[in-house]
Amino acid sequence: MTQPVGADQSANEIFETDQTFEQLGLSPPLLRAIEEMGFEHPTHVQAQLIPLALKGRDILGQSKTGTGKTAAFGLPILQSLTEEDAFGALILCPVRELAIQVAHELRNLGRHTNLKVVPVYGGQRMTVQIPKLKKNPQIIVGTPGRVMDFHRRGILPYDQVKFAVLDEVDRMLDIGFRDDIRRILGGMRQKHHTILVSATIMPEIERLAGQYLDKPEFLTLEASSLTVSQVEQHYFSIERWDKNRLLVHLLKHEEPELTLVFCRTKQTVDALTDFLNRKKIEAHAIHGDLHQGKRNRVMAKLRSGELSVLVASDLAARGLDVDDISHVINYDLPEDPEIYVHRIGRTARAGRKGVAWTFVTPEQGHLLTNVEKVANIQIDRSDYEDFEPGPVPQAVRIERERASEREAAARVTQSRETTAPPTTKESKDDDRFPGGIVPTSMPSKRMGGRLRTRRR
Ligand code: ADP
Ligand code: MG
Repeated sequence: MTQPVGADQSANEIFETDQTFEQLGLSPPLLRAIEEMGFEHPTHVQAQLIPLALKGRDILGQSKTGTGKTAAFGLPILQSLTEEDAFGALILCPVRELAIQVAHELRNLGRHTNLKVVPVYGGQRMTVQIPKLKKNPQIIVGTPGRVMDFHRRGILPYDQVKFAVLDEVDRMLDIGFRDDIRRILGGMRQKHHTILVSATIMPEIERLAGQYLDKPEFLTLEASSLTVSQVEQHYFSIERWDKNRLLVHLLKHEEPELTLVFCRTKQTVDALTDFLNRKKIEAHAIHGDLHQGKRNRVMAKLRSGELSVLVASDLAARGLDVDDISHVINYDLPEDPEIYVHRIGRTARAGRKGVAWTFVTPEQGHLLTNVEKVANIQIDRSDYEDFEPGPVPQAVRIERERASEREAAARVTQSRETTAPPTTKESKDDDRFPGGIVPTSMPSKRMGGRLRTRRR
């Protein structure tokens, strides 16, 4: 349908192509894992952050979604800790999926070390997580609530922490974890290193850094967004009642491999998932109301490649990191440009290509323009040739007729208001009214009386 754009120029924008992980000073067990995972060059944020963290500096690092921040803070920690360092690293994440995922990535990177990584998060029974903590793992990755809970129970000490990390600080603050963060960081009295990473930096994050970081190094990687350069982005102009049909059409005709469909509300997520299933498309819903077991099952299916369409709300998809998402479809255009960038960042991970399609209703033109302006991208329009828009639903037709009548009426009223009262000769409009007689009042009844005008 369309040609991928910007795929070639992108490698340099993401990777430090003239650098290797060896040059960053990483140890052989880590280098082996990195090689096995197929990482060739460090990303920009990795190239900058890793050497500083290995030197023991406190860091506030900003770089966009999908630029490899997990390995950037994870590798130095894996290198610096030994088996004796029980509870030596505490990594805080905004949501459980992210905690699971960061733990997964760290286990992978640390596969040739003897360090244990344990994720702790709400939604899973404490009895599942407690025995793991009792084994004195070196690295804990958790959401703030559960971390504090375990801390209060005395099974997650802070006093041995050598590395404290806040991942996705901007999201943490969005979600409202300010006090929790302060309580946790404030609870570490011993000397330790602190690393904050975030896709965006706002004054509050700088204040946090000022308070909890020791002579911090600020890294801002303004380099063009990976997301933007790697994702082929298009929008479809579509009436809202045609969205479902267009979605089915795209899924059936384009056969995208693994598709993530974003909706604004969980009601839409559920309704749309049902609709796709009725159309014989295997789709699964993921949103905040699903219990953890179900979420984990859906995620496992997704990772193993069994599932081809996942319908998600923004919160549920936060931090969702599945490598092979080929398409992101914005069923609902988000109002916040950052959410748009975050959503499409779910595809095209670390150098791969991805496709993002966005449904835009005629009323949403200005929202789309805003996304383009703020995210500094251009989203081209795409038309789907064989797709026939459906008829305008009756309710909409009636509503539109009413609206256009209201508009016409408003115009009439306005022109009356701006025209001087036709009492003088000059006010006669010879061009428009033959004979120069300008009507001074409205006809008493028009259009079946449905027209309402503002009368004085
Ligand atoms: P961020 O936290 O910046 O959004 P992640 O740490 O989640 O990004 O990394 C995104 C993806 O890129 C992950 O799948 C990760 O395994 C992969 N990745 C990280 N660093 C590299 C690298 N140097 N080369 C290739 N892939 C990488
Ligand atoms: Mg991350």
